[in-house]
Amino acid sequence: PESVPRRHDVRLPPDTTRESFDEAINALRHALGRENVVLNDKPLEDGWYLEHPNTHDAFHLVGQEDLVSSATVYPSSTAEVQAVVRWANKYGIPIYPISMGRNVGYGGTAPRVPGSVVVDLGKRMNKILNIDVDNASCLVEPGVSYFALYDEIQRRKLPLWIDCPDLGGGSVLGNAIDRGVGYTPMGDHFGAHCGMEIVLPNGELLRTGMGALPGKDGADNPTWQSFAAAYGPYSDGIFSQSNFGIVCQMGFHLMHETGHQSYMLTFPRDEDFPDIVEIIRPLAQKGILGNIPQLRHVVQELNVTGLPKSHWYSGSGPVPRDVIREHASKLPCGDCSWVFYGTQYGDEAAIKSQLDMIKSGFSAIKGCRFYLPSDVPADHYLNDRALVCSGVPVLRELDWLNWKPNAAHVFFSPITPTRGKDAKIVHDINVRLHAKYGIDLFPTLCIAGREMHYITNIIYDRSSDDEKRRCNALMEELIAEAAREGYGEYRTHLLYADQVANTYNWNDNALMRFNETIKDALDPNGILAPGRNGIWPKKYRGKGWEL
Ligand code: ADP
Repeated sequence: PESVPRRHDVRLPPDTTRESFDEAINALRHALGRENVVLNDKPLEDGWYLEHPNTHDAFHLVGQEDLVSSATVYPSSTAEVQAVVRWANKYGIPIYPISMGRNVGYGGTAPRVPGSVVVDLGKRMNKILNIDVDNASCLVEPGVSYFALYDEIQRRKLPLWIDCPDLGGGSVLGNAIDRGVGYTPMGDHFGAHCGMEIVLPNGELLRTGMGALPGKDGADNPTWQSFAAAYGPYSDGIFSQSNFGIVCQMGFHLMHETGHQSYMLTFPRDEDFPDIVEIIRPLAQKGILGNIPQLRHVVQELNVTGLPKSHWYSGSGPVPRDVIREHASKLPCGDCSWVFYGTQYGDEAAIKSQLDMIKSGFSAIKGCRFYLPSDVPADHYLNDRALVCSGVPVLRELDWLNWKPNAAHVFFSPITPTRGKDAKIVHDINVRLHAKYGIDLFPTLCIAGREMHYITNIIYDRSSDDEKRRCNALMEELIAEAAREGYGEYRTHLLYADQVANTYNWNDNALMRFNETIKDALDPNGILAPGRNGIWPKKYRGKGWEL
């Protein structure tokens, strides 16, 4: 969409006059160089995934100018990040760190408090600091994308794999501290990290894990990327999905390259859903499934082709089930209801024996069919899954956005036990509420042995206030209904951070009171990402900021 003139001038941070803001910005320019501090005063461009803005949420769910920064600053080093943090404390201006800002569907680069200064770490802090082949690990800065890490490993012809999420353009570090997931056996990104370097909200510098023990003659500790827990409380966790520090370096374990085989299973009936989940549970718990597989409703076979909704259906509401059936019957998946994408790893014999067990498990579902990539056309989505599941970053999932004009999306991501009964409760809530608000339901389930991430991708037209209103209402009702049944989200768009945080309220909000105690101790001036994940510093609490 073409850019429209701004309705408002620069959005100032709360309680700041233009004069004091200009003075603060001048001081920051003096410290970091004029060109590295950019005011957010131009028309806002939503761009697209690879050319995304760092000025606002490109996938705006409210007004485009509602969640905006006042300026962006580009530090080039940990020392400069410390300088930015000290500046923020001095002038009382909230800052909002991002790595690359590609967590689309969760708020992108937008700060929770409008008028915050976005600290864009990725642009200038984008070095792969180390790849340790013997240790099968790496150390990266915030601006290293999955593509960049992958390319470097290929360039050096190393026998290692990375693990990437569905889209490969994001930051390895940023995705991990937002606890994103991928699809090789090392798909738990935060779980695969080892060691962090963090600037605290008071400007102090911290290394976690073995990094806290200085190496010989000033070197980094030789086991910083080998042993995450080290000694004493395991503090790394509190720097994920929080606003307790700015992560400037982070280590990750890498996987050894190995044989792999992706495959697809289809199941004929919508009602098979709980039984499929029951079969997956023991296969996953016993470690027979090689990765965290995805189970998708067949409607996603339509939109992952990249063809617009109008190609399939000319009505205005959600695509009816019989229309989906009619189209699916002409696609490689055939007339089915659920589609399972999995991958097995190891040598040929190991993969064969695993696949035999998997086929035998699923044979309990009548009409289940098994496909290899060689059974489907070269442009079929299964071939893209085969890449992602072997650590090759791709962008195929962007094709979703062809579904409607000006498309944006937001995720609803509850966690349920891997049990047919629970999966059905959450699925039924989704079916009922999506129908209530007239929105297509696109469920993708990432199923592990004991829990599953039930993720619905809610696609809306950014230029339609009515669609945004329905999306918002749908999200709020989904979160509330799921919580009533005892299910909570693992991650959410920043507009729902308060609501989701409030559902984790066992024992009179003990968890939030604990988080607030840490927040106030580390960030007494409340400058770092106020409101992120529903955690508000003292300065903002109870003053009308919570949504
Ligand atoms: P990606 O580019 O992988 O999608 P983002 O940069 O968008 O990741 O990061 C997701 C969220 O995590 C950001 O909105 C921000 O709140 C937080 N975040 C990202 N990087 C950092 C960092 N280095 N330090 C602290 N918080 C961060």
